Amino acid sequence: MRIDLHTHSNRSDGTESPADLVRRAHVEGIDVLGLTDHDTTEGWDEAAVVAAGTDVTLVRGIEVSCTFEGHGVHLLAYLPDPTHPELEHELRRVLDGRNSRLPATLERLRGVGIDIEVADVRRVAGETAAMGRPHVADALVSLGVVADRNEAFNRYLGPQGPAYVHRYAADLESMIGIVGRAGGVAVIAHPWASRHDHRALDAAGLAFLQEVGLAGVEVDHEDHAPATRAALRAVADDLGLLVTGSSDHHGLGKVGHDLGCNTTAPDQLARLLELAAAASEESGRRTPDIFRT
Ligand SMILES: [Zn+2]
Ligand SMILES: [Zn+2]
Repeated sequence: MRIDLHTHSNRSDGTESPADLVRRAHVEGIDVLGLTDHDTTEGWDEAAVVAAGTDVTLVRGIEVSCTFEGHGVHLLAYLPDPTHPELEHELRRVLDGRNSRLPATLERLRGVGIDIEVADVRRVAGETAAMGRPHVADALVSLGVVADRNEAFNRYLGPQGPAYVHRYAADLESMIGIVGRAGGVAVIAHPWASRHDHRALDAAGLAFLQEVGLAGVEVDHEDHAPATRAALRAVADDLGLLVTGSSDHHGLGKVGHDLGCNTTAPDQLARLLELAAAASEESGRRTPDIFRT
């Protein structure tokens, strides 16, 4: 059983439509696919329709942009009721922040002599719910300014770059609470990835977050070296957090993240689904069915 619980479609910064992503998962022998676009549930319905016609089980999720003690953290919210008012409100704030960030980013790029218009970004962004930095990076690639997304982030768009603009992200602690009240399960994505500063997410930090409702951590991820995985797994086991693994697939938008390159163990998925059922029972919120539309 191959379980990949963290992927992106072109509703955020992946390059495949939700339908194509599910078809690819089917062709590549993925049994359970998590669709976790950044800050949006827009791709869910399209993915669910296609999944219903295959033997791919779809786990609907969201990768929410959060902050914890001043650092950016990505929170995977699995199977929350997308109509929960607090959840909808926070996702709207995050998406609005990203949309207003775009003109400011382009202004700063013009400040360093790179002439780029919203239309250039729109051309490469497709049907995404929000154009973000990865799309600006793609536009810079298409204009021949940089060779790939990595170079765009390193030279211009990353926190150290001249075109970096701060934007709103949800408070991690309160978002974990919201996910639970929406009947979902909260798992921190790639907590110890080197590009994130993980000092705040040490064993004590994770224990604190567990007390406010955190259910698990993503351990097997390409941004975690083998030694990092072993150390994080030990912390998770110690705390009794569930452990996931996933590709963080972005289509052609990110190299080295092929579907199923990391996977989640069946017993961990079973636990996640039990927790989702319990959260949904307790909150009175309906968890999206994982098999049907
Ligand atoms: Zn992430
Ligand atoms: Zn991701």
